[in-house]
Amino acid sequence: MEWRRIIKSSKERQDANLADYEESVRQFSWDKARALLDGLPGGGLNIAHEAIDRHIASGQGGKLALRWIGRDDQVRNFTYGALGAAINQFANALARRGVSKGDRVFSLLGRTPELYFVALGTLKNGGVFSPLFSAFGPEPIKARMEIGEARVLVTSEAFYRRKIEPWRKELASLKHVFLTECPGEPPEGTIDLRAAMVDCPATFETVGTTPEDMALLHFTSGTTGRPKGAVHVHDAVISHHVTGRFALDLKPGDIFWCTADPGWVTGISYGVISPLSNLCALVVDQAEFDVERWYRTLEREQVTVWYTAPTAIRMLMKAGADIARRFDLSRLRLIASVGEPLNPEAVAWGMEAFGKPIHDNWWQTETGGIMISNFRSMDVKPGSMGRPLPGVVAGIVERLADGGVRAVETPMTKGELALRPGWPSMMRGYLHEQERYRKCFAGDWYLTGDLAMRDDEGYFWFVGRADDVIKSAGHLIGPFEVESALMEHPAVAEAGVIGVPEPTVGEMVKAFVALKDGHEPSESLRKELLGFSRKRLGPAVAPKDIAFRQNLPKTRSGKIMRRLLKARELGLPEGDISTLESEER
Ligand code: ATP
Ligand code: MG
Repeated sequence: MEWRRIIKSSKERQDANLADYEESVRQFSWDKARALLDGLPGGGLNIAHEAIDRHIASGQGGKLALRWIGRDDQVRNFTYGALGAAINQFANALARRGVSKGDRVFSLLGRTPELYFVALGTLKNGGVFSPLFSAFGPEPIKARMEIGEARVLVTSEAFYRRKIEPWRKELASLKHVFLTECPGEPPEGTIDLRAAMVDCPATFETVGTTPEDMALLHFTSGTTGRPKGAVHVHDAVISHHVTGRFALDLKPGDIFWCTADPGWVTGISYGVISPLSNLCALVVDQAEFDVERWYRTLEREQVTVWYTAPTAIRMLMKAGADIARRFDLSRLRLIASVGEPLNPEAVAWGMEAFGKPIHDNWWQTETGGIMISNFRSMDVKPGSMGRPLPGVVAGIVERLADGGVRAVETPMTKGELALRPGWPSMMRGYLHEQERYRKCFAGDWYLTGDLAMRDDEGYFWFVGRADDVIKSAGHLIGPFEVESALMEHPAVAEAGVIGVPEPTVGEMVKAFVALKDGHEPSESLRKELLGFSRKRLGPAVAPKDIAFRQNLPKTRSGKIMRRLLKARELGLPEGDISTLESEER
């Protein structure tokens, strides 16, 4: 089905930070973007300075920086001044223990205020911050801390006892473990974080880092295989700042809610750095996803910009648009989504539930920041990821047999999504994996591993991950288009599509479907869905087989793991499943 283009009013266009796309692209340069920030004396740059101290120095220390909502609805507010003081105390606590420039500080924390002190305090002390998902078990934690040569870990006492203590002695690099929520004596070899911070002064002089000093180590989601440790530098803050301004339309004073877990890159680039560098207030909810709670948070906190993910949106859709309409969400100016393809059905549902489209944008751990986006001022074509950010050159390329690539110029032709290196938040390497890093480049391009198409207006359309694309009877079929078609059926909550080897056509399209509440799997529904998708997609692309599942396997960052659906279907080894979300939920 053709989805209607969502036209933006001229009032909305004029009010957007990026009002005129073509003009902004023409005017933009990374040097001009750099000039929006302070820098450190002598050409230095430090993310924490740009996120916090810059604002305090310009007299804005009294502005709200963080509103933390506990599981029990307890609220803690931090102004930029108060947050800055806590960050300084943590930086001092590190420096006192001899932790210095370049040292790796890991966190294994839920959504707690300490996470912000630790992330920015580490950067201020010249260290490298690496967040871990708090739901990881001992093995994936240990593997990542080994790769990252962790010197410091900040976690809770409960996590420490369960997930770290059993193997701690095996990691020689780990010298200091700080514990939050430490009611009694801290266990042997650990430090009570609160006591250590109280003991330290609330002032700290930022360590003189350069733009190319390593700042962040982010592990990828592990959707396609073994996670990689992407290295980012302080220069990334330039990208974080301007992409927040352009793609998320962040303005000083905005109340911004990023629902991504701090254990992956979105939770740091856009859950911490970008909004703070733009003088916004962060809303952080410690609790897990809950439909009513989320709407209540949007209403009560008067959230103006909301950054979430397709999985969450699909769960809200499952509960119906009526619930959304019971809440006063009139302050909400922009809704954005990242992490997975956003089905056109979900964009249209945004119109129904909020009177606003959901703005999809695309990026990866490796790119450090948003690369392609639906902008507030631009018409939305549901199903498209939007257009490249100013300063970002994106193309569609075809790999050649000799190892080179050729740009694909014909509109709506499938090829690999590629980017011209040069933006500040591009990874500087995969830690200890030079060869894997080198393989990401060909000719003048960084190859993303995703397939996409570009239309004649320059909008990009996601096809699928290169690893997930299905080759059937000479057609290249992207799982996304098949999944989106299935989602148009009123009974379907989620779909994951794979290719299963078949002798005559090469691969046969098979779909796994989770149903909405109130619908039961049955043979007649299976037949109905087969017919429904054949009508929409045609026989060459439609699934030949459909199986029902209670839930689809997902990474902890919420991505459907098609490779796992496939391995299980074919009885093959499951590979690295360290980031697999428990499937009972
Ligand atoms: P791994 O690289 O370890 O397999 P991953 O690619 O899922 O894991 P991330 O860096 O967290 O790790 O995710 C980036 C990927 O997520 C993109 O390459 C793309 O495949 C997908 N993605 C992100 N945003 C979008 C989007 N808006 N539309 C479609 N796909 C998206
Ligand atoms: Mg990836």
